[in-house]
Amino acid sequence: MLMHAHTPLDALENHGEFIARHIGPDTADEAHMLSVIGAASRQALIDAIVPKSIARAQPMVLPPAVTEAEALAELRAVASLNQVKKSFIGQGYYGTLTPGVILRNILENPAWYTAYTPYQAEISQGRMEALVNFQTMIAELTGMAIANASMLDEATAAAEAMTLAKRSVKSKSNTLIVAGDCHPQTIEVVKTRAEPLGIEVIVGFAPKLMEEHDYFAVLAQYPSTSGLVHDMREVVEKAHAKSAAFIVAADLLALTLLTPPGEWGADIVIGNSQRFGVPMGGGGPHAAFMACRDEFKRSMPGRLVGVSVDAHGNPAYRLALQTREQHIRREKATSNICTAQVLLAVIASMYAVYHGPEGLKRIATRVATFTAILADGLGKLGLKVQNPYAFDTLTIETGDRTDEIIGRALAGGANLRRLSPQHVGVSLDETTTREDIAALWSWFAPAGQACPQVSDYAAGIALRLPEGLRRTSAYLTHPVFNTHHSETEMLRYLRRLADKDLALDRSMIPLGSCTMKLNATSEMIPITWPEFAAVHPFAPADQLKGYALLNEQLTGWLCQATGYAGISLQPNAGSQGEYAGLLAIRGWHQSRGEGHRKVCLIPESAHGTNPASAQMVGMQVLVVKCDANGSVDLDDLKAKCEQHAKDLACIMITYPSTYGVFEPRVKELCAMVHQYGGRVYVDGANMNALVGVAAPGQFGGDVSHLNLHKTFCIPHGGGGPGVGPVCVVEDLVPFLPGHATAGQVREGGVGAVSAAPLGNAAVLPISWMYVRMMGADGLKQATETAILSANYVAAKLSDHYDIHYSGGIAGVKGGGVAHECILDLRPLKETSGISAEDVAKRLIDYGFHAPTLSFPVAGTLMVEPTESEPLVELDRFCHAMISIREEIRKVESGAWPKEDNPLKNAPHTSQSLLKAEWPHAYTREEAAYPVAELRQYKYWSPVGRVDNVYGDRNLFCSCVPMSAFAE
Ligand SMILES: *Cc1c(COP(=O)(O)O)cnc(C)c1O
Repeated sequence: MLMHAHTPLDALENHGEFIARHIGPDTADEAHMLSVIGAASRQALIDAIVPKSIARAQPMVLPPAVTEAEALAELRAVASLNQVKKSFIGQGYYGTLTPGVILRNILENPAWYTAYTPYQAEISQGRMEALVNFQTMIAELTGMAIANASMLDEATAAAEAMTLAKRSVKSKSNTLIVAGDCHPQTIEVVKTRAEPLGIEVIVGFAPKLMEEHDYFAVLAQYPSTSGLVHDMREVVEKAHAKSAAFIVAADLLALTLLTPPGEWGADIVIGNSQRFGVPMGGGGPHAAFMACRDEFKRSMPGRLVGVSVDAHGNPAYRLALQTREQHIRREKATSNICTAQVLLAVIASMYAVYHGPEGLKRIATRVATFTAILADGLGKLGLKVQNPYAFDTLTIETGDRTDEIIGRALAGGANLRRLSPQHVGVSLDETTTREDIAALWSWFAPAGQACPQVSDYAAGIALRLPEGLRRTSAYLTHPVFNTHHSETEMLRYLRRLADKDLALDRSMIPLGSCTMKLNATSEMIPITWPEFAAVHPFAPADQLKGYALLNEQLTGWLCQATGYAGISLQPNAGSQGEYAGLLAIRGWHQSRGEGHRKVCLIPESAHGTNPASAQMVGMQVLVVKCDANGSVDLDDLKAKCEQHAKDLACIMITYPSTYGVFEPRVKELCAMVHQYGGRVYVDGANMNALVGVAAPGQFGGDVSHLNLHKTFCIPHGGGGPGVGPVCVVEDLVPFLPGHATAGQVREGGVGAVSAAPLGNAAVLPISWMYVRMMGADGLKQATETAILSANYVAAKLSDHYDIHYSGGIAGVKGGGVAHECILDLRPLKETSGISAEDVAKRLIDYGFHAPTLSFPVAGTLMVEPTESEPLVELDRFCHAMISIREEIRKVESGAWPKEDNPLKNAPHTSQSLLKAEWPHAYTREEAAYPVAELRQYKYWSPVGRVDNVYGDRNLFCSCVPMSAFAE
């Protein structure tokens, strides 16, 4: 008889396979890291660093971790609850065909989706070229002077246009007139934004309202939500005569055929680029846009890419006019936008690059032709089409047949728009076919009536565009829009741009506060499933049950992670979560008859979005002092609380602090603010140091936002998309955002903060997958490893650099930090003249993206390694930093001149190194290969150091003429 040793059934268990893929260091690595730090165990380290007073009493209650395959199967079942129907709803969201070459090489390509916001210009030239293409496309299609590099959605873009107008026009009025036929979600978000700022919004027939009221701006839609193509030339002049601005929400595809608003006097044009190849995704993410007249540019919100020059005089891109932005201007910023919608702007711009002006016009003409045929046929069927002019949308009088017609369409697998009990809307798009037109006729046809055929129109048909508003001007004439039309060329263009950039697919991005961790492939896979990607945000609720379940499960899990009672996933970036959270605090005070409480205390170390968001809800920002460790000065806090006891609304803190410090007295801080009647906002950007270890909802926070694009694995996309869920304690739940347009009204009366009820819905599966595959233990282990890794880096570098904050924890080398550590370079600046920026740029020569530069302390670098970086990469980074310290020593000693050394001249391009003459005190080898491994694999910066000042002095924000590249 053969005897086999039994394999224990333990072999059937899931041994946290994904957890070990997500977390870089393994058990042996961890032991090594602990020994360098001088901690006995991971638990001992965490106990030493996380204050006992805030440690969670109970673990999170989450479903046990499953494998990648199991999670995908489970999410498939959730997705299948969504019903994919053909959408004729329109209302700002249209069917579109994402070109395969763009889908695979951008949306599914980590070289694009794992990149960070392009603050480090030299390693971001590829995506900035794509963004300049986007800006050029928007400016030319709208006919405006300048456009920015994306807004969060069309509705918030309209709201930002309102405040831009308010800042920019001479009119002293506080009234905004909004044409009643703008998209309803746009009107709703504009109203939410206007109210705290004391702006009165009057909605109705604009020409009449403009006679009756004084106003500072008018917002109108072109073509309107019901399909009308208004000729607004006269009313624009009337607005200008009153020193008011005229804001137009425009459709990009229609603008290829219609006279652009810039040619008839519009001051600001906003809209969405979704239908340029970006799936509807149940509401987002998509890149909205804003374009404006030249005079307004210094007051514009959002990110703007400009053309500057590099150290060798070559054209190079960089973020322009940053002095408008929250990270510099704080509560005086032009907006709170930080993370925008870069990945989607890149996709939309590439859709235009791929199709070119002729291709876009062909697509638009096809849509407009189908629309004309549809309208004509409906007329033949005896139906009345209300709009005489139309690009893609018809409003059809259906009388008492509305339900019947919508029901027939539904049975045929399509959604029509119920515009009123007696009106149905139909919007066509790029995906519309002859069969669709035939089906539409059949649904509208009264019983027994024969339908026309598309072939009846073989002789052609007149488009329903007003003659006086036909576009005659050219657009997208730059070679970039007229070259890459074959797939081969397009593929290579995308590859060429991606190769210029440094993203997570090449090296660690140790950006403090930004949590650039693994964005696992399995997490990304579901976002393009049609059940998530191809559904309209305003489809009937029973078709969106998958999203409803996803929302329910994910918010439940995030409640566990944060200790809060209620969460809304609607805000589509951290900044928007802050805004929604402050609205909740404001709503709560008002509900108690204490609407006068408007003082918002913010520590001086806060992220710029905090004061910028407070300003947007009409709060008054008061700065609270911090001590040398970046902790809130509790004496100063107490004094300010007392002084403003009657008017205190809240405090906004970040925990652990932006210095990467667990302030031990945070409970005391929260209690103090509560005692004076204020609420506590805990900025959740640093949740990667807390999940499973401590919960803000348990240690005294009332409101937080999360950044799912930091802690919960949504990739940064080169500057968006993000998701910024707003999380609140029980008594604030009624004040979470509602969404009346989607039929979701909350009693607290806080309106919508995003165009779509679930915000950037299509990327939520990423965070769902992460939590599902990690489980409670995996998430806690991730947090602890993130803290371990930061302490390892601090320990390794503490012999070479000053660690700005040292917790002074006995026995912990480096002093003990949270999940990030600040390297203080100011002393070296004194001794060598080398700045933190020089080190950041020199890191590029070593193949690294710089850590966060000069935030929260000027002259420092903040390193956040995250749990995902393996030990070898942490060591490679530390090795580079130590080698750079040696280089600085050579400058200190005088071996290298202060103004001519590898740090000041970094980054080095291959071109500059191959020049015949080499006048420097260091060798080419020292410049290019300061450490041996770079000979095996080297990232070459495509440009030398970019001149920041030149770019702002000579502002240029569209495609660079080819002549500029000629030697
Ligand atoms: C990233 C960040 C924010 C802003 O989040 P966005 O998603 O970029 O708008 C706010 N506060 C802190 C501390 C952050 O790090």
